[in-house]
Amino acid sequence: MTSPVFDFIIIGGGPTGSSAATYLRWKGYSVLVLEKEKFPRQHVGESLLPFCYPLFKELGVLDEMKRRFVRKPGARFSSHDGKQSSTWCFRNIIHDESYLSFHVVRADFDKMLLDNAAKHGAEVKEQTKVERVELDLPNDHVRVHTTGADGLAQEYEGRFLIDASGQDTFLARRTGDKHAYKELDRIAFLTHWKGAKYTQGIDVGLLQIVYLESHKSGWFGIQPVGKDRLSVGLVINRKYLKEQKAKLTAAGHEEWQKAFYLQEIRECALTRDILSDAEIAQPLIAVSDFSYYAEKTFGHNFAMLGDAGRFLDPIFASGVYLGMNSSRMFAEALDVLMKQGREEGLKAMEEKKKYIDGAYSLVEKFINIFYDPDSFNLAKLSSTSESNYEGYQTAFSLVHYLLAGDFFNNYEKYGDFLDMLKNPKQFARWRNLVVSRPNVHEKTCGTTYEAIFGDIEDEYVRTTSINGIMA
Ligand SMILES: Cc1cc2nc3c(=O)[nH]c(=O)nc-3n(C[C@H](O)[C@H](O)[C@H](O)COP(=O)(O)OP(=O)(O)OC[C@H]3O[C@@H](n4cnc5c(N)ncnc54)[C@H](O)[C@@H]3O)c2cc1C
Repeated sequence: MTSPVFDFIIIGGGPTGSSAATYLRWKGYSVLVLEKEKFPRQHVGESLLPFCYPLFKELGVLDEMKRRFVRKPGARFSSHDGKQSSTWCFRNIIHDESYLSFHVVRADFDKMLLDNAAKHGAEVKEQTKVERVELDLPNDHVRVHTTGADGLAQEYEGRFLIDASGQDTFLARRTGDKHAYKELDRIAFLTHWKGAKYTQGIDVGLLQIVYLESHKSGWFGIQPVGKDRLSVGLVINRKYLKEQKAKLTAAGHEEWQKAFYLQEIRECALTRDILSDAEIAQPLIAVSDFSYYAEKTFGHNFAMLGDAGRFLDPIFASGVYLGMNSSRMFAEALDVLMKQGREEGLKAMEEKKKYIDGAYSLVEKFINIFYDPDSFNLAKLSSTSESNYEGYQTAFSLVHYLLAGDFFNNYEKYGDFLDMLKNPKQFARWRNLVVSRPNVHEKTCGTTYEAIFGDIEDEYVRTTSINGIMA
């Protein structure tokens, strides 16, 4: 039996692919999602930005999120020795309930979004790996060749292909259009811990970013994803990692990656303290493929969305929002394409792409500032919620808005602001406005343990089956 021609075929059922599927279904299109894994499968990317909140509401998953996931009121940046820190609370700029964002177990979060796409009528085929695509059919359609769990080959035809294959970068790899951001050449390791001490703001849901010593040019990202499940990720520059790998393998460590991860945990006062009595609860995940971009992210019958087209260092926890909101925006352009033809569709995609590129470029600028040893160090700034100083509110708010995810609509304004901070005089002025005021050091962002963890069905979260990316 021949399969029907789908309006859209999507490679990948992560947050980008499943959101695109739901938005396109709502516009009345037939959608096929092809996902190579069986969900739930584990994934990195667990701390979500408040700007995702309206999307969760719109997609109809907000209530489920509130039941299942830990809440996140802000972020704390700490120095390596733990002596200095600054806390940025989203309630300082967001005055509705969306100031309380989420930390999620991605296995559960991604499954929830994929099930939601199926609930809204997308045809979802898991354990179906896309092997090859044809984009040059005479009728402008695409043909997708897959292998299923049974090992059998299958092919599908669609009017348009969305590549949401994440770091697999299905299309960019095949067209040779994947380029590295050389200055952001880093590697990440991440796992979950049981029995960690919930102190230092973890007890009130803060995302903790801990700067490492400058020669490591990296950081720890620490987020509670359950009542007794702490996610601890390490991002580190490749040069330092290579040196350490040589030392650890010479010393006879067979599992040198795990030995390295544990070594760095021991060398950092904060992680050493909170993990002193804890044990690792799942296989270590290693992610070595970042950061990168593709030049040509869309054409008359294809688009790359989310990590499939571009990936930036995760220091500002931006990836899920960038991917999901790009899907939402592109769905509008794809609606134009289906209704008014490919030429009009290309123009509409170009228009959306301007904002998507603007958002990514803004985040890239912010990341470069983070890693620039001559630029400001967020751990050494402190936020305060009280000041009468003229101009304070604007200066104070800008960093909060960036940390909350205001990337798409105001990217030019924030880009100018970040450029301005590169000027030492302007930076000194900003620092004076924001930092050198009598500090009220935020400890809790106005939340309690109950508000953050109270209602989550922890057992559900803990019993997730994990297909570790890399043991
Ligand atoms: C260490 C680290 C920490 C991070 N932390 C954060 C964070 O705190 N917050 C945040 O927002 N982001 C974070 N990110 C980024 C975030 O993980 C990604 O941006 C996000 O997962 C992108 O979603 P996606 O749907 O585009 O891709 P993915 O979530 O990777 O989904 C892609 C899907 O495509 C499937 N697929 C791939 N190839 C094929 C194929 N050939 N056939 C069929 N299916 C295929 C895969 O199985 C996968 O399920 C982090 C990233 C790293 C590396």
